[in-house]
Amino acid sequence: MTHIVVIGAGQAGASLVAKLRSEGFDGDITLIGAEKVPPYQRPPLSKAYLLGEMAQERLYLRPADFYAANNITLRLDTRVVAIDPAAKTVTLTGEDVIGYDELALTTGAHPRTLPRAVGGMLNNVFCVRDLADADAMAPAFVAGKRVLIIGGGYIGLEAAAVASKRGLKVTLIEMADRILQRVAAPETSDYFRDLHRSHGVDIREGVGLEMLLGEDQVTGARLTHGDTLQLDLAVVGIGITPATILAESAGLDVDNGITTDTLGRTSDPHIWAAGDCASCLFHGQRIRLESVGNAIDQAEAVACNMLGKGAPYDPKPWFWSDQYDCKLQIAGLNLGYTAVYVRKGDAPGVQSNWYYKGDTLIAVDAMNDPRNYMIGKRLIEAGRSPTPARITDPATDMKALLKP
Ligand code: FAD
Repeated sequence: MTHIVVIGAGQAGASLVAKLRSEGFDGDITLIGAEKVPPYQRPPLSKAYLLGEMAQERLYLRPADFYAANNITLRLDTRVVAIDPAAKTVTLTGEDVIGYDELALTTGAHPRTLPRAVGGMLNNVFCVRDLADADAMAPAFVAGKRVLIIGGGYIGLEAAAVASKRGLKVTLIEMADRILQRVAAPETSDYFRDLHRSHGVDIREGVGLEMLLGEDQVTGARLTHGDTLQLDLAVVGIGITPATILAESAGLDVDNGITTDTLGRTSDPHIWAAGDCASCLFHGQRIRLESVGNAIDQAEAVACNMLGKGAPYDPKPWFWSDQYDCKLQIAGLNLGYTAVYVRKGDAPGVQSNWYYKGDTLIAVDAMNDPRNYMIGKRLIEAGRSPTPARITDPATDMKALLKP
């Protein structure tokens, strides 16, 4: 009987094994995960769960009995330490060896950490990737404590929002000229800077960390502009690196993620990859997406293609972030944009920022504006680009843009 082994029991791994069964695969499936808990959703770790508004059970992607009921062998608290593509085996911690016919890598990513030399090993310095990270950090989020958030990307900003809501005194530093510089236009950065400042967060841009201070526990920080802060804790949100070590040691091609073709196959014909660890093709360009939407869609496409469906994966990027009462929804990918047009809504805080590459609409950031998010998403997916003048004209009936 065919045996499919999946390494990494996160969002992509869970989606992949479920899709194999729903597509009718009746061979053996083994899902191997390094964490102690069954597959769970990560987004709430920097949002509702960190805020204490969501129970752990609600994080789980499937009911506890799903895996057994679907005849999926789930091996938790187990790390794969080597792959032998010639023998078609994987080696687990404890030296168990498992054979496979087809293998999928859904190993996700590692958070970048601060080096020891700048105080990265001090107590009360946290990152947030896993449930264990969030559980370690949450008790330190106590009203009145002083926290430094290092990094103004989505994770850092979400942690800042939770900390501020919990009554901490929050400073956020971003080394680049502006928060969200890597992922969004200045118009979106401006929106979130204003939002955080209105909640009392001290946002400092163009400022890096020189050193965290303290003996065992972090007590302060020295910043690149010479300022010194007194601190009770620090949160590091400086990005992630794809988990590719296993793939590299197995001789697979890696290029900012495990290289996959349009079907999700790696450079080995019997090994596939999906999710944060995989790089894929988008409009002829090699990219790596870090989002739930991609982890699910790519993993499901890989499951189908492992079963011989031959359906190319065509990423349709989307993403969201929650900060205070603002829901940001992003459709498309703004890679290489040449202009951004802002549409303000009727109520305060309602705004959508429309990215164009030449005359082509490629992405939309919608803040508290689900309607324009949906309209933007459908326009992008249909390959339609209204003129920017229509987008910015408050009199435009946006829904009418969808009419042929
Ligand atoms: P993961 O979910 O990271 O799963 C990979 C799993 O593989 C891990 O459990 C890991 O332990 C395991 N693993 C790795 N190596 C091995 C090995 N050798 N042996 C066994 N197991 C191994 N996305 C959004 O779209 N919207 C959001 O608002 C959003 N918020 C986020 C907030 C946080 C705090 C985080 C951390 C992420 C957020 N994301 C968000 C991103 C999203 O969660 C990820 O893109 C998604 O989880 C990727 O799924 P994955 O399966 O590829 O990786």
